[in-house]
Amino acid sequence: MPDINLGIIGGGQLGSMLSVAAKKLNIKTTIYCDDVDAPAQYFCDDFIFGQYEDKDKIDKFVKKVDFITYEFENIPFKTLNEMNKFKPVLPKPSINRLIQHRLAEKDFINKLNIRTTRYVSIEKKNDIEALKDFLPGILKITTMGYDGKGQFPINKIEDLDFLNIDFSKKYILEKLVKLKKEISIVLTRFGNNNYEIYDPIENTHEDQILKHSKIPANISQTNINKSRDWAKSIAEELKYIGTLCVEFFIDRNENLYVNEIAPRVHNSGHLTINAYNVSQFENHVRAVCSLKKITLKKVSDAEMINLIGNQIKPYRENLRLNENEYFFDYLKKEIKDKRKMGHITRLINA
Ligand code: ADP
Ligand code: MG
Repeated sequence: MPDINLGIIGGGQLGSMLSVAAKKLNIKTTIYCDDVDAPAQYFCDDFIFGQYEDKDKIDKFVKKVDFITYEFENIPFKTLNEMNKFKPVLPKPSINRLIQHRLAEKDFINKLNIRTTRYVSIEKKNDIEALKDFLPGILKITTMGYDGKGQFPINKIEDLDFLNIDFSKKYILEKLVKLKKEISIVLTRFGNNNYEIYDPIENTHEDQILKHSKIPANISQTNINKSRDWAKSIAEELKYIGTLCVEFFIDRNENLYVNEIAPRVHNSGHLTINAYNVSQFENHVRAVCSLKKITLKKVSDAEMINLIGNQIKPYRENLRLNENEYFFDYLKKEIKDKRKMGHITRLINA
């Protein structure tokens, strides 16, 4: 196999896990990130620190690598598009532009006749006053939000008086779904109708941040089939290459809704490292570097627990794991409230 150098934009834990997967395939990784403390620098072969608008540094990065991918959405479209003129950027920059904008993303999903929550565009505070029908709801910033950041639960119009919302930014207002469950589908698309799909993953959030994931998801066969079909239709329509995650809601009447799409590997798929023959990370690297696809096989049922903020401390201080448990420390420099610091995967019936 010729030497391949994979460029990854973003240096968080997803970048680290992509680098580890690439190494296993003898692929070198170069990470480009605007955070000088990015933890993925401890896992990749080369690390370039630079802003996402820094032409000279980006030029250096592009020259070094053969393929380019990214581990988070919030990268300027112009940057990805410029890079794509010289080296293939996968998934395509236009896909990232669509998905990083909550309104465009939801319009796109609905055009495929796939159900999302009810939503409406909000440009000023007054817009909400006429929309009682959407309450209780969640106001979400249209771009740059993640892990519940830029989101405001709104039960009644008067709540707006107490929330400090910056209306110079654009938002969408989403009707609150009475959740029974949340699930996600992680899949990797290699080309036309050429997929590997992981089993639906059941997710639990705390404070709008993922806390726990498990396979198998305890859901109906109808929703297993429907979620797989919908995720596949979305990936096919986008002509997506790489690993993609679709997050879903299931309400108390068993209705399925797409919540959002992540054009990248996803936190809920971390358990695939230990529970499958090929992880979501390895599959992503294989797809974007045009390597061979391997048929997926589940090795074990599993659950994953995110270690958020101080929850990492006892594991760092005194690590005691059972044989079926795996601990991942993202090696982030500082412990912060609500920051994902690591995770534990536990294989069940292994
Ligand atoms: P992020 O981009 O931060 O992941 P999400 O839109 O996925 O934002 O919201 C994070 C979490 O907040 C969801 O996984 C869910 O638990 C809750 N949530 C978001 N929107 C709704 C909604 N319309 N109804 C019910 N719960 C919601
Ligand atoms: Mg989400």
